[in-house]
Amino acid sequence: MSFAALELAEPLLKAIETQGYTQPSPIQAQAIPAIMSGHDVMAAAQTGTGKTAAFTLPVLHRLMEGKPAVNNQVRALVLTPTRELAAQVGASVSLYGQNTPLRSTVVFGGVKINPQMMALRKGSDVLVATPGRLLDLYKQNSVRFNQLEILVLDEADRMLDMGFIHDIRKILALLPAKRQNLMFSATFSQDIRKLARGLVNDPVEVSVAAANATADRVEQWLTPVDKKQKAALLIKLIQQHGWSQILVFTRTKHGANKLTRQLEDTSLRAAAIHGNKSQGARTKALESFRQGKIKILVATDIAARGLDIDQLPMVVNFDLPNVAEDYVHRIGRTGRAGASGQALSLVSADEIDQLNAIEKLISKEIRRDLVDEFEPLHRLPDSKLNSTPPRRKKSVKKAHTPKQEHHDGQRPPIHKKRRNRRRSPAKAPAPAAK
Ligand code: AMP
Repeated sequence: MSFAALELAEPLLKAIETQGYTQPSPIQAQAIPAIMSGHDVMAAAQTGTGKTAAFTLPVLHRLMEGKPAVNNQVRALVLTPTRELAAQVGASVSLYGQNTPLRSTVVFGGVKINPQMMALRKGSDVLVATPGRLLDLYKQNSVRFNQLEILVLDEADRMLDMGFIHDIRKILALLPAKRQNLMFSATFSQDIRKLARGLVNDPVEVSVAAANATADRVEQWLTPVDKKQKAALLIKLIQQHGWSQILVFTRTKHGANKLTRQLEDTSLRAAAIHGNKSQGARTKALESFRQGKIKILVATDIAARGLDIDQLPMVVNFDLPNVAEDYVHRIGRTGRAGASGQALSLVSADEIDQLNAIEKLISKEIRRDLVDEFEPLHRLPDSKLNSTPPRRKKSVKKAHTPKQEHHDGQRPPIHKKRRNRRRSPAKAPAPAAK
């Protein structure tokens, strides 16, 4: 199927052509006609499926008919959970709308409100916003919804996870009852369906890429390793393989900061990106990463959602996420738009429950590759799905530099694997708490 067959307006087809997209992605093929015909839509789609264009293109198409927004009015409101996602959706709206007269604005917290108030004055055909800042702007009389035609909730599941439900309800109460509602979410949990009941009317439901479809495009493996050894192993692997442009996930902000320091102590250029970082620091880190000035971006799950970094070759799970779906989101950062990617997880014995949950979700056992001299004292239990013995990877010749040992404060490398194997896990020192 071609984009032209979807009967999108000419200026939009031109922008699509400029982007070099040859055909709609599955979510686009399903969602675009439903949205163009004016239906409410509930779409299950993750980042990387082309979901942004799936709602942006038909929304722009519809807005091309009708009167332009005037005086602080908004015609289509897109709510996103994070500042990064707002900025990226805003960029997509500008990109796809480049040949149209439609005006778009992006607002989010963490930056000065005044320039945003100015930008809203003339009215916005599309406003992309995070919920808190939108409410602040509404209180200041900077935004009006009398002209509102379309509401989009992007990454609705993440909005609920981040506690935006009250803000969303407040915003819904401000909007005209007669409007088109579009809800995009990676998953449709009970909570999402509950939210949907008060939001969408007789929606067309579209869904693509079950969790394991994304996972199939990515080469995944894991290395069992003791918690305390993870940083040293990661540093070694990065140096050994010459990996560049790696997105590393940690479970906590503290973990992200600590790992970033450890990487930088070995002269690896790294930056942390998480909720405690200012907007300026996040944007700077992302830009440096894009330009290749920083090799490694260390992120928490929430901060990483919506980061639009194309063709990312490598994702490393320094910690496994507590929520299995987040694993799929994480590895979905690589192998996008048809490219293949790699995802490595460093897994310690205490993460076996998370590993079992992930393997159950993706219906597949993740290959285990031991790295010599980093074999764990605390054996990672066999996974529930299967029990294939781990493959041995080529030896890492020098396991540690003195500098790394100093910074990691870790035990010396184990050179005698056999002795290590016989050691009873019960006698081994407990893994460090995170
Ligand atoms: P998204 O799921 O919205 O984050 O989009 C993922 C990536 O796919 C973005 O970098 C888009 O530029 C790209 N993309 C979107 N639609 C298409 C398409 N039809 N063909 C190729 N790439 C696309």
